[in-house]
Amino acid sequence: MNIFETIESEVRSYCRSWPAVFDKASGSWLKDENGKEYLDFFAGAGALNYGHNNPVLKEALLDYLSGDGVTHALDMNTVAKRDFLEAFSDIVLKPRGLDYKVQFPGPTGANSVESALKLARKITGRESVISFTNAFHGMTLGALAVTGNSMKRGGAGIPLVHATPMPYDNYFEGQYPDFLYFERLLEDAGSGLNEPAAVIVETVQGEGGVNVARPEWLRGLAELCQRHDMLLIVDDVQMGCGRTGPFFSFELAGIQPDIVTLSKSISGYGLPMALTLIKPELDQWEPGEHNGTFRGNNPAFVTAATALRTYWNDDLLEKSTLAKGEQLGTVLQEIADANPGVEARGRGLARGLAFEQPELAGKVCAAAFARGLLMETSGPQSEVVKLLPPLTLTDEELTQGIELLTASVRSVLK
Ligand code: PMP
Repeated sequence: MNIFETIESEVRSYCRSWPAVFDKASGSWLKDENGKEYLDFFAGAGALNYGHNNPVLKEALLDYLSGDGVTHALDMNTVAKRDFLEAFSDIVLKPRGLDYKVQFPGPTGANSVESALKLARKITGRESVISFTNAFHGMTLGALAVTGNSMKRGGAGIPLVHATPMPYDNYFEGQYPDFLYFERLLEDAGSGLNEPAAVIVETVQGEGGVNVARPEWLRGLAELCQRHDMLLIVDDVQMGCGRTGPFFSFELAGIQPDIVTLSKSISGYGLPMALTLIKPELDQWEPGEHNGTFRGNNPAFVTAATALRTYWNDDLLEKSTLAKGEQLGTVLQEIADANPGVEARGRGLARGLAFEQPELAGKVCAAAFARGLLMETSGPQSEVVKLLPPLTLTDEELTQGIELLTASVRSVLK
């Protein structure tokens, strides 16, 4: 169905299938052009952790624009950039004892992944990369190479980066010791794999079906990287900026990746922005080796700095995310316990409900849409209902979302 019948020629035919034309957005809510309101448990696929048109960020942005602040500045030094870097260092890095250089790799998460892969290959002089089953890292050729879903390649053929998919945590449901397969391949000279440049991993696979890696598995992976001189890249594009509770999703495991990718909610306002964090001794970029026109999105620097100062000067957001996540997780577990073939997954406010019969997930999302709740499916067969509400949602909104979700599941499984 094309709901833009009058302007068919101008519109992609593969939009998200929600049959609505959205018009306004505020906090945890979207409104369509007919005035119907939707509680947004999709939140820009994790790009809107602080909700739509967050009033504090909006005020900072409007002030900046009305004062003729620089908007576009490539990689030039600007006051807004310096202010963001100071806030990032003081509020995010220093209190966590983390030391990273910050690169602005381009506007999107995929840009950050590309820069991470390029840098790892440049530093190590090695070519191959280890990635994981069901991983998602973006739509550019390098990022697709490490994405564990061949459908996403869209017929584009064999990617440019040599990547080997390895089993993610619990892939074999506990039947094999962690990392046995890795170690064998790494030590087998004939596997062609003996010297990968890096391992790229999500601590929770969002697009892959809300698959949660255990902290001990992540620690084991970090040790494996050290033993084999591989760089550890954590892709925190979707799970960073507090989605799982702490600012970085890897904090829970107590690991310090060599390179971190961040995007989606870093600008706080849904404006394109990405960061690649690089351990200082690994920053071997020469000027011009990784550049791009939209690396200096200054309005995004302004909202990003404001978001850090508003939400990360204390641990309130982290605590409320964990508490709300627990509440949502308990309800999902109750649904799973009451319905065979349903499994609850997740951490913090990244939650999922997986269905043994894949088509049920889409039906639940459609039923929820009709009731005014937006959620998406994820997973290799779109078998998981993914819930990513704004972290700033109120208790009432969480209760309302839970009621709508429960009613939607009931209507489908009845
Ligand atoms: N990495 C992860 C973990 C992601 O979830 C995504 C987007 N869903 C990306 C990278 C790519 O980000 P973008 O769409 O901004 O290029």
